[in-house]
Amino acid sequence: MNIALPVIIVGGGLAGALAALCLVQQRPDVPILLLEADETFGGNHTWSFFDSDVPDAAKDLIAALNPVRWPRHTVRFPRRKRTFDFAYNAVTAADLDRLVRTRLPAGSWRTGAAVAAIHVDQVVLKSGECIRASGVIDARGPTGPMPGLELGWQKFVGIEFAARAGDAACATVMDADIPQIDGYRFVYVLPMAADRVLVEDTYYADGPELDINAVSDRVRTLADERGLLGKEVRREHGVLPILIGGDPDTFWPDDDPVARLGMRGGFFHATTGYSFGLALQNAVDLAQRNGPFDSASLAQWSRALFARHWQSMRFFRVLNRMLFHAAAPAERYRVFEHFYRLPFALVARFYGGVPTAADKLRILSGKPPVPVGAALGALLRR
Ligand SMILES: Cc1cc2nc3c(=O)[nH]c(=O)nc-3n(C[C@H](O)[C@H](O)[C@H](O)COP(=O)(O)OP(=O)(O)OC[C@H]3O[C@@H](n4cnc5c(N)ncnc54)[C@H](O)[C@@H]3O)c2cc1C
Repeated sequence: MNIALPVIIVGGGLAGALAALCLVQQRPDVPILLLEADETFGGNHTWSFFDSDVPDAAKDLIAALNPVRWPRHTVRFPRRKRTFDFAYNAVTAADLDRLVRTRLPAGSWRTGAAVAAIHVDQVVLKSGECIRASGVIDARGPTGPMPGLELGWQKFVGIEFAARAGDAACATVMDADIPQIDGYRFVYVLPMAADRVLVEDTYYADGPELDINAVSDRVRTLADERGLLGKEVRREHGVLPILIGGDPDTFWPDDDPVARLGMRGGFFHATTGYSFGLALQNAVDLAQRNGPFDSASLAQWSRALFARHWQSMRFFRVLNRMLFHAAAPAERYRVFEHFYRLPFALVARFYGGVPTAADKLRILSGKPPVPVGAALGALLRR
């Protein structure tokens, strides 16, 4: 009996789980094995995204994840407030976990399966068990420093309270009309259900240190000021990389024989640290590709995606230099306040990582919100 060896996806977080779900749906002929160290898939996350982050081929998949959807979203700064009739959505890790268990055939996933070593033709679990593979994909997420990359940080604590939002149809994606601490600070408010609201306190900071207790206290204060304080239902926190510069070949040498997906492969938006849209696009791309599924082909495919992604993030790296190097931490909010003068279609292309040449000119036009000399320095540095 000839049983084909599986493609092993190491890491059942966002990127690994979406890749597995797309493969099972579109390439049932390709056997897979999704290995997750924890007891559940997806960790402890609420992932938010715009409609424009979802490729047509993934619309059904996203619908099956039960997204919470807000028809409007709003931003607020000391001198600007705008509400956009453009939907914002969120899915939870609990729904991703449920969908993986429902859709992946028995035997094609394992939890509590921590991988100790990854090779092109097998993975070795911490238990010592070896599992042979036709191809291996590393989707272990952000497990350590990202070599070769110059980074700033977006860090936050979010607490979900049992409380009712005033306007349950509107997500607040940035309210920076609050005291600025540790860089650019804003509050994020998502009404997750009629009786639950997620309130997050977020910082664009130079360093990755996050004092979870201190920031949790600030979240409660922010919630109280907005009439949203209630029993704490759940909590999440994150420290996301913001890409300022660096050497892509040091981060990911092009002769690395193992494919990567998700944060492990640098697939995040340089200015937001978000990766939902890219994880989804890459999962669709993986399932739709014509090439073989051996390790060498997968490594080549994913490294080429990364090279394209790195190129597409060039403009964002320049903006990030302006944000982190030209603006004093307490003044960083002005960069976003200035940006949000622009039409929403442009804002959406920006967050989608696909601004046009005209968009880039418009973003950089007008009186810079930071000192001119420092802005020029940031623009001219490669
Ligand atoms: C709290 C939080 C909220 C976020 N919110 C958003 C958002 O709203 N929108 C957005 O676009 N981005 C968001 N992000 C950023 C980014 O999208 C997430 O970090 C996303 O989960 C990254 O996906 P990933 O698959 O690369 O890594 P992860 O989702 O972290 O998945 C990696 C998985 O690999 C597993 N793993 C690690 N090592 C091993 C091993 N040795 N063996 C087996 N398994 C292993 C981990 O347990 C984990 O489940 C958020 C991040 C955080 C932390």
